[in-house]
Amino acid sequence: MIQVTDLQKQFKTLRKKEGAAGGLRTLLSRDYQVKEAVGGISFAIEPGEFVGYIGPNGAGKSTTIKMLAGILHPTSGTVSICGMSPHRERRRVTRRLGVLFGQRTGLWWDLPVKDSYDILAAMYGQDNRVKETRLAQLSELLALGEFIDTPVRKLSLGQRMRADIAAALLHDPDILFLDEPTIGLDMIAKRSIRNFLKQINCELGKTILLTTHDMDDIEQLCKRVMVINHGKLGFDGSIDRLRSRIGLPTKIRVCYASQVPPCGSLPDTRLQLISQEGRTLTISCNREELSAMEALRLLEQLGIIEDVHMEEPDFEDIVHQIY
Ligand code: ADP
Ligand code: MG
Repeated sequence: MIQVTDLQKQFKTLRKKEGAAGGLRTLLSRDYQVKEAVGGISFAIEPGEFVGYIGPNGAGKSTTIKMLAGILHPTSGTVSICGMSPHRERRRVTRRLGVLFGQRTGLWWDLPVKDSYDILAAMYGQDNRVKETRLAQLSELLALGEFIDTPVRKLSLGQRMRADIAAALLHDPDILFLDEPTIGLDMIAKRSIRNFLKQINCELGKTILLTTHDMDDIEQLCKRVMVINHGKLGFDGSIDRLRSRIGLPTKIRVCYASQVPPCGSLPDTRLQLISQEGRTLTISCNREELSAMEALRLLEQLGIIEDVHMEEPDFEDIVHQIY
C-alpha cells in the first residue's frame, strides 16, 4: 500500500554572513549549508498495519511524513501510495490520505469547527449528504458535539486534537499519517484518542503511521515500530522484538501523601528503586515484566499516592542501544 525506496531529503540553507552588509552578501553568496534530514530510507507498509515511527527530536520523522503526504518533494528516492506518486498525482493521493500534524492545527483558527469541516468537504468535492452522515459518525466517536460551534482558538488542546483528527478523516481516507497526535495531552485525552485510533484500525481497517513521543501510545497501538535517528532507520520490526532487544524500561516517580519508610525493600522484586527524596520515590521497572498500572498498584501498598509522574522514554537511550 505504501512503498518507500531510498527516500532522501536534503535542506539547503544559506550560510549567514556577518557584518553590516551581511544580509546582502548572504543573499548574493552561493554559500549553502546542506542538512540531510532524511538519509535514504526504505520500507513498505501493508493495508491495515498500525506502524509507530519514533526517534529523538530532529531525527527526520516529520520530514518523512511530509514527503509521504506529498507536501515536500524528496531530494531523491521514491514514494508510492496505492501505486501513485504523492508528488505527481497529489490530488488523487490526497483522497486516500488523512494527515495530521499535532503541533499545529489544520483548521481555521477563528471559525467554528463546523465551518472548517464545510470548507474541507467543499475542497474534497464531497456531497453534502455524505459529509453530514460522515460527520455524524465522527461526532459520535470523538464527541465533537460539545464544541462543534466553537471557534478553534477557544478549544482546549484535547478538543482541538479531536477536531483535527475528525478533519483528517472527513473524506474517509484509507491511510492516516499522524504526526504527534497526543502531544501535550493529559492522560484522559490521550486515552480517548488512543481508543479511537485503535477502533478505526481494528474495525475499519485504516492503515496508520504514527509518530509520537509517548511510548505508551506505541505499546498500546502499534505492532510494528520503526526507529529513525539522524535520518537513518535503525530498527524496523515488531514491538516485541524491540522490547526484547532493549528492554524498554519505565521510570515512575511517585509522591506519597506522607513520609514512607526508607525503601530498602520494595513490595516486588520487579521494581527497582532509583532514588528516594523525602516523600518521593523514583522507581524503574521493565515494561516486559510489569505494566505501569501494575507497578502503581504495587506502589500503593506503601502509602497513599498523591502524585504520579511517568518519565518520558529516553529516546536517546533507545537509539543508543540500537545504533
Ligand atoms: P523530527 O520530526 O524527527 O523532529 P524533522 O523531520 O522535523 O525532525 O527535522 C529533521 C531535520 O531537518 C532537523 O535537523 C531539522 O532542523 C531539519 N529541517 C526540517 N525542516 C527543515 C527546513 N524546512 N529547512 C531546513 N532544515 C529543516
Ligand atoms: Mg517532528
